[in-house]
Amino acid sequence: MSSVQNTDVVVIGAGIVGIAIATLESERGRRVTVLEREERPIGASTRNFGLVWPMGQQAGPLWDRAQRSRKRWLDLAPKAGFHAAANGSLHLAHNELEKAVLTEFLGLAPADFQGQWLEANEVPVRCAAVRREGLVGGVWSPHEATVDGREALPKMLAWLARERGVDVRFDAAVSRVEDHGVWSAAGRFQAKRIYVCTGSELRILYPSVFRDSGITNCKLQMWRTPPQAGSWRLGPSLCAGLTLLHYAAFNPCPSLPALRKAFEASHPEYIANGIHVLVSQNGSNEVILGDTHHYGLTQDPFLHERLDALVAKYLDTFAVLPDARVAERWMGVYAKLPGKTEFVHEPEPGVTIVNALSGAGMTLSFGLAEEIVPA
Ligand SMILES: Cc1cc2nc3c(=O)[nH]c(=O)nc-3n(C[C@H](O)[C@H](O)[C@H](O)COP(=O)(O)OP(=O)(O)OC[C@H]3O[C@@H](n4cnc5c(N)ncnc54)[C@H](O)[C@@H]3O)c2cc1C
Repeated sequence: MSSVQNTDVVVIGAGIVGIAIATLESERGRRVTVLEREERPIGASTRNFGLVWPMGQQAGPLWDRAQRSRKRWLDLAPKAGFHAAANGSLHLAHNELEKAVLTEFLGLAPADFQGQWLEANEVPVRCAAVRREGLVGGVWSPHEATVDGREALPKMLAWLARERGVDVRFDAAVSRVEDHGVWSAAGRFQAKRIYVCTGSELRILYPSVFRDSGITNCKLQMWRTPPQAGSWRLGPSLCAGLTLLHYAAFNPCPSLPALRKAFEASHPEYIANGIHVLVSQNGSNEVILGDTHHYGLTQDPFLHERLDALVAKYLDTFAVLPDARVAERWMGVYAKLPGKTEFVHEPEPGVTIVNALSGAGMTLSFGLAEEIVPA
């Protein structure tokens, strides 16, 4: 029987939530072991748009949390050697209702929000991909940033191992946690503090806690283009009217119910499939596009061509890419707790489950980790 390895902290799961916690724990001088079941991260954190999107967060603690996360991403990128762009965002409006929601949002935004309304003729100066037909204007915000989880996660893990002495183990599926002990495919560990950051895997560790919590999963369909030729850059990440229905930050806008009603009438299939369209670009010049939202604990593994076609059709109403061919398609799944922005729970002394950051894990994980990890 192999010996038990003692450490201060074990983090289970090398997605962005686990990495953010490992970063904070190691920064505070503790010995950290990260246990990841796969040979490399392939969960939600490597399948997303890489958008760090403070504008989608409500004012108050979440806005602050997103801002702190953004700062950490931008600080870490040159150290760990991955691409991060402080490129901001553009929320486009194509009718008076969308404009009304966006201008109401500007009136209600946090005091330090530096976004502004741009008239239709000012928008293309910010982004050459914006289709001019039918454009009323848009909100430009400097607060958003873009990374690429596929590139950033392995580099962050390597940096944590190299610079902070974090013990990162792959092929290390954890099957049991009990009484400060962790049983994994990489052996047994004993730690003062254990974090369970297992993303959409809700059935192996603490299954009854997850069942009782009401957490479910959400499946999204995505794709990316080949690298755009030459030095073409998207500039800010892009979205349009449907996105205003998606992010909680727009909920207080008085015109939002009317906009929702209008979309329900004009785009019922989009509403039924939770479609809104985001456009981001990574450091390899590929453009990342999506997405759809379907909820349920068990998600079918199939990509539905019809849904990608709906995304492409809506994209075509507001953006034109030099090379819109599809290079890769994939699905991603994240955990969501309806009505909540995260699930932080202690199922037993010394163990903290951190999960269900929904569609905002890249935006909020570092800020949340700062609030959870003891000084
Ligand atoms: C398609 C898509 C697009 C998105 N776009 C954005 C975006 O642009 N901006 C944004 O802020 N958020 C976005 N999100 C949300 C964000 O990606 C998630 O909130 C975040 O990645 C969740 O991180 P996580 O660490 O909890 O999960 P994951 O990244 O899934 O990591 C969990 C890890 O735990 C490991 N694991 C599970 N069980 C075990 C076990 N028993 N033992 C060991 N390891 C285990 C898994 O292998 C996995 O590596 C998107 C999500 C998806 C799916």
